[in-house]
Amino acid sequence: MNISEIFGTNVFSTSVMKERLPKKAYAEVLDVMENGGQISMATADVVANAMKEWAVEKGATHYTHWFQPLTGSTAEKHDSFVTYPKEGKTVLQLSGKQLIMGEPDASSFPSGGLRATSYARGYTAWDTTSPVFVKESGCGAILCIPTVFISYTGEALDKKTPLLRSMEALSTQAMRLLKMFGNTTSKKVIAYVGPEQEYFLVDREKYLKRKDLVYAGRTLFGAPAPKGQELDDHYFGQIRERVGAYMKDLNIELWKLGIPATTQHNEVAPAQHELAPIYATANIAVDQNQLTMETMKRVATQHGLVCLLNEKPYAGVNGSGKHNNWSVGTDDGINLFEPGDDPLHNLQFLLVLSCVLAAVDDHADLLRESAADVGNDHRLGAQEAPPAIVSVFLGDQLDEVLHDIVNGIDVSTVSTEDLDTGVSTVPVLTKDSTDRNRTSPFAFTGNKFEFRMVGSSDSIASPNTALNAALAEAFCNAADVLEKAEDFESACREYIRASLTKHQRIVFNGDGYSEAWVEEAARRGLPNIKSMVDAIPVLVKDDVVAMYEKFHIFTRAELASRAEVQYETYAKHINIEANCMIHMASKAYIPAVVSYSGSLAGDVAALEAVGVDASTQRKLLDRVNALLKEASDALEDLETKLPQVNTMDSMGAMAHAFHDVILPCMAALREPIDKLELLVDQDVWPMYSYGDMLFEV
Ligand code: ADP
Ligand code: MG
Repeated sequence: MNISEIFGTNVFSTSVMKERLPKKAYAEVLDVMENGGQISMATADVVANAMKEWAVEKGATHYTHWFQPLTGSTAEKHDSFVTYPKEGKTVLQLSGKQLIMGEPDASSFPSGGLRATSYARGYTAWDTTSPVFVKESGCGAILCIPTVFISYTGEALDKKTPLLRSMEALSTQAMRLLKMFGNTTSKKVIAYVGPEQEYFLVDREKYLKRKDLVYAGRTLFGAPAPKGQELDDHYFGQIRERVGAYMKDLNIELWKLGIPATTQHNEVAPAQHELAPIYATANIAVDQNQLTMETMKRVATQHGLVCLLNEKPYAGVNGSGKHNNWSVGTDDGINLFEPGDDPLHNLQFLLVLSCVLAAVDDHADLLRESAADVGNDHRLGAQEAPPAIVSVFLGDQLDEVLHDIVNGIDVSTVSTEDLDTGVSTVPVLTKDSTDRNRTSPFAFTGNKFEFRMVGSSDSIASPNTALNAALAEAFCNAADVLEKAEDFESACREYIRASLTKHQRIVFNGDGYSEAWVEEAARRGLPNIKSMVDAIPVLVKDDVVAMYEKFHIFTRAELASRAEVQYETYAKHINIEANCMIHMASKAYIPAVVSYSGSLAGDVAALEAVGVDASTQRKLLDRVNALLKEASDALEDLETKLPQVNTMDSMGAMAHAFHDVILPCMAALREPIDKLELLVDQDVWPMYSYGDMLFEV
C-alpha cells in the first residue's frame, strides 16, 4: 500500500480546486477561506459544478449538508444530483445555492426551547474553512459539505458555529498581544487540536446479545472477569491479528478522507485501543474527529466487530477518554506555547503562560462542564481518569520558573538536562522539560496543553470552544492593561508576576488521584463538580455568560438553551439505561435464576428423599434465593420510581432526580445480579460475561 496514493483522495482540497477551478474562482474561494466573507453567487455556481463533476467521477450520487446538531453526532440528509430530465436525458446538477445554503427541518433537532415551533426553520450554511469530502458507506458515495446550522433568527443550533466564533475571538485578542511584542508578520492566530481517541472493540455476535450494549452503549450488569488489567500486559502490547486487520482498514478509510491517522496502540484495559491523528486547526480537528468516530464504527462492522465509544463500557476496568491536545499558533508558524530554551527570559511565552493559567483558573468550572457527558460521569474521578477537579500540571522546569517569578528571584537561565541511560551504545538524550503526569486533567506537554477530561464519545467542539474563549478573555484582559502602559516591558513583567501570583493555586504537579489532593483542592477553593447534572448550571453563570457575550460566542439565550438540552440529554440517557435494566432483569436474569433455583430445589428434595446429605445444595439454594429476593425487590423499587421521576415537569429537576434517585436504584439492582452471575451455573446464565467480551475479541 502506498499511503501517498490514497491520502486525501476523497477530499475536495485546495489542490483539487486549483486544478479544477478557473483562476478567478479559485482565488475568490481561497480568499474567503482565509479571510472570511462571502462567495459571490456566480462563483458559487462555478465551484458547485466543479465539485459535482469531481464527486460524480468518484461515484457519488448524492450530496448532503453535513452538520453537527446538539445531539453530539453529525446529521445529514441526502439529495441526489438528479434533476428533471431534459429531452429524455438525465441531468446531474449541484447549484451554487444548493452548495451554500440548505434548509433542513429543524424541529426534530434539540434546541432547548430556543426555536419555538413557529420558528421551526433551521438553515445550514457552507463552512468554507472545512474541506468538502466524499464519504463512502452502505449508501454509496455521498458528497458531504460541512456546514453550520443556525435558526431563522440566527442563533446557533450546532456545535460548529460557536467554535468558529471562539476561534475568531482568540485570534483577535492574541493579535493584540503579538503586536505589542513587535510582531509585524503574523496575520492571524489559530487554535490547533490533536485528539487522541480511545475505544473498545467487542465481537459483534456477542454485542448483539448484550441488550445493554445495544441500547445504552455500556454494560449495565456484569461480574468482573477473573483477570482485569492488573498485569499491565495489554497497554502497548502486541496487537491481535483481528484487531490489527481492523486498524489497517480503518487507517485506509481515514487517510482517504484526508484524516492523518498516525498513532495506534493497545490501551490499558483488555480490548481497549487508541488512535491519534496529527493535529489540525481546531475546526477541522473537530470535523475529523466526528468522522473518525463514525468511520471507526463503520469499519468495525465489516470485521464482525462493534466499536464502543462509551466512556465506561465495562465497570472495573479503564474507561475511555479523548485527550484533547491544544495549542495556539500564528499563521506563519509561531507556536505561542513554545517555551524555547530559556523560558524564564521569554517574556512573550511567560505572558501567554500566565494567561493560560488565568483562563483555566477563572473558568475551571466551565472547562469541567465542557467535558461533561453522561458516560463520562462514570470515569472522571474514578482513580483511572483525571479527577473532576481541574488543575494544571506544568512540570518541574516551568514550576521553578513560576516559583521564581512569584517570589521575585531572578535566577540565571534554566538549563536543559541530559539524560544518561548508563548504556554506552545508546545516545545521550535531552530530557524533556516536562515529565508525564497521567493524573493531571490539564497538563503542559512541551509546547501544547493536554486537556484529558474529555469523554471518548463526546464531540470535542465544546471543550475547545471553552478553551479558546477563556484564553481570548485572558488575552483581552492583558491587552487592555498593557496597551496603556508607557514602559511595555516592565508593565508586562509586573502583569505576569501579579497574574501568576493570583492564579498559582490552579497549578498542581502531584498525584491527582489521591484523596489528599481532593482536600488540598478544597482548601485552595478549586471547584470539585462531581457529576454532569451539577456541572450544567455553570453554562448560565454570570461570569460565563458575560465572557461568551463579550466575545460574541454565545448569547445568554443560546447558553440557556444548551443547558436545557444537556438536562434533557442526561434524563433521556438514564431513562433508557433504567428501562434497559428493567427489561434485562425481568426477561432474562430473574427467569434464569428462578429456573435455576427450581432445579436446585428439585435436587435437594431428590437427595433428601434417598437419605443423602443435601446440605451443600441447600446452602447454595439459600444464597441464590436470598439474592434473587434482593434483585426482585430492587427491580420493583426501580419500576415504581421511574414513572414518578419521568412525570416531573422541569427538565432540571428531572435530570437531578435521575441522578439522585434512579442511579442508586440501578446500582441496587445490579449488585445482587452480578453476585448471582458468579453463583449460577454458567450454562443457564443468559448473558455473555465480561471475560467473554473483553478477552475474546
Ligand atoms: P502522547 O505521547 O501524549 O500520546 P503525542 O506526541 O503522541 O502525545 O501527541 C498526541 C497528539 O497531540 C497528536 O494528535 C499530536 O498530533 C498532537 N499534537 C502534537 N503537537 C501539537 C500541537 N502543537 N498542538 C496541538 N496538538 C498537538
Ligand atoms: Mg497518547
